[in-house]
Amino acid sequence: MGCQYGHRKEFSQAARRVGLDGRPTATVVGDSLRPTLEQFIAQYGAYPHAAIQPRREEKKMGSRLRLYECQCPSPVKVRVASDTFQARCVHCGELFTQSLKRKLVVATEPFCRAFL
Ligand SMILES: [Zn+2]
Repeated sequence: MGCQYGHRKEFSQAARRVGLDGRPTATVVGDSLRPTLEQFIAQYGAYPHAAIQPRREEKKMGSRLRLYECQCPSPVKVRVASDTFQARCVHCGELFTQSLKRKLVVATEPFCRAFL
């Protein structure tokens, strides 16, 4: 609800509904709300915890894929999530070999592993 309601009846009714007790200008956690909050803390741990960093999904995906190239003048490039990929190019007839030209160095970032 918005601030335009101040501490009037609309606010106090909403505060009662979520389990806050006391005067509308100085609400406290009521007996009906307390178990909910305690359950939350039991489930997620007490605040504060370390900042949660968003996962870098695309980086992780990129680091898993290996680059393979055939022997064509302008090589066909394929990326496969395998170190033992075996396939033959129908143009040059050569096997795709893993390219080491582009070795990605992916810096590991500190993030909260508890939330992965
Ligand atoms: Zn080829």
